[in-house]
Amino acid sequence: MARTTSDNDAGRDEYATFAPQGETCPECSQPIGAFEPCRRGTVERQFGPPAVVYRHSECAKRYRRTVRQ
Ligand SMILES: [Zn+2]
Repeated sequence: MARTTSDNDAGRDEYATFAPQGETCPECSQPIGAFEPCRRGTVERQFGPPAVVYRHSECAKRYRRTVRQ
């Protein structure tokens, strides 16, 4: 599948969930609580499948597909 090298697709917000224990939000470097709602997303990697990341709901806002530019 052809893929453009655009930063716009670097991080995607997928759905709200709970993070596994010990997950750290990559946006603010703060740990996500076990019962704290967060957003699951994926980060495109240069090699291999996309990496799964968990972000606080607030931190994930800019990754939402509906965000305006
Ligand atoms: Zn965060």
